[in-house]
Amino acid sequence: MAFHVMLIPTMGCPSNCSYCWSSEEGSPIMSIETIEEVVKWLKDFRDDPVTFTFHGGEPLLAGADFYRKALPLLAKGTIHQKAAFAMQTNLWKLTPEIAQILAEYDIPIGSSIDGPRELNDLQRGKGYFDKTMKGYEIARANGLNVRFISTFTSYSVKYREDIFNFFLENGLTLKLHPALPSLRDKNPEKWALAPEEYGELLIYLLDKYLEHLGEIEIMNIDHLCKCVFSGRATVCTFVDCMGDTFAVGPDGNIYPCYRFVGMPKYVMGNVYDHPSMEDLSRSDAWKLMHQYKEYVDRQCGECPYIKFCRGGCPYNAIAPNDGEIKGVDPHCTAYKMIFKEITDRVNREFLGSPAIPMAPFKSEPNKDGKAGIMSLMFRQ
Ligand code: SF4
Ligand code: SF4
Repeated sequence: MAFHVMLIPTMGCPSNCSYCWSSEEGSPIMSIETIEEVVKWLKDFRDDPVTFTFHGGEPLLAGADFYRKALPLLAKGTIHQKAAFAMQTNLWKLTPEIAQILAEYDIPIGSSIDGPRELNDLQRGKGYFDKTMKGYEIARANGLNVRFISTFTSYSVKYREDIFNFFLENGLTLKLHPALPSLRDKNPEKWALAPEEYGELLIYLLDKYLEHLGEIEIMNIDHLCKCVFSGRATVCTFVDCMGDTFAVGPDGNIYPCYRFVGMPKYVMGNVYDHPSMEDLSRSDAWKLMHQYKEYVDRQCGECPYIKFCRGGCPYNAIAPNDGEIKGVDPHCTAYKMIFKEITDRVNREFLGSPAIPMAPFKSEPNKDGKAGIMSLMFRQ
């Protein structure tokens, strides 16, 4: 089974988004020696294919020289594990030089834009939009594939139509992310999107997607539909990420996911010690993650969606309670709303169809002329 190693070259970030929970100013940068230790650690760790995602903070702060050395080391050192790469960046520090290095390794880029300039800059800071778009042009000119995540907050959700139209009109793939309570803010709930609002937003976007089928791609809706259609999850929020996802901080500490980086109680080991899976499994952080898994088996046992939801994201569930398991992912309400909506629509269309057609399945448009949900079933 494939596994995922998130590399966090620094926790520093040049932007200062209102609802961010991770960036630290003046943070140290990972050394190439640490990358060499990552390679040694993984040599006998497991034989499965590995994906490395550079995440942050802002990973481009590590500079061109870091990537010029780190990428061949990782690619050659883990050849039996068929390394693939990805990067999550705000693109501000992208230069043609770095873009060419990333393009050599065919690295898909995830970036962040919350919507039109004014709305984006209100949430992410003045000048953010233009700096990211400048980087986007450099990325495109060098053949890099960029997809944007829009973080929906309690504020921006009021402008959901404007945000949808912005992505549609600019030919951008939409991936959305609900703002979480910021763990370092005095007023942590200020920007957070309430679970009911998130559920309503997902249902709204499902409708808009069907209305504009073929004109835009909404990644979350595709994933959610795939979960329901296949009974299997395809994104980390809805699978047991523990044991298949690891994050390495700038100092080589290993965590269960990038979201925990910098929080000492979630350290599972360090790459300089080349720990085996067994070594990691003896850490308190690993045990906590597995306690969460058992908790989900009990707590969500009666839920019709447990097979593909698996209690949502363990970070969302555990981190805000300071490492205590007091409940499942607070977005449970939203997940139930959208899973129910998709399931109900599938049932209605399936039962309402005169005969069961052969694949490729394309459902009849509804009375209002919109495509039916089964149209999403065979989308690649
Ligand atoms: S902790 Fe949450 S964000 Fe991290 S890998 Fe697991 S599901 Fe994904
Ligand atoms: S929808 Fe809620 S109850 Fe159901 S599995 Fe997910 S977190 Fe658990």
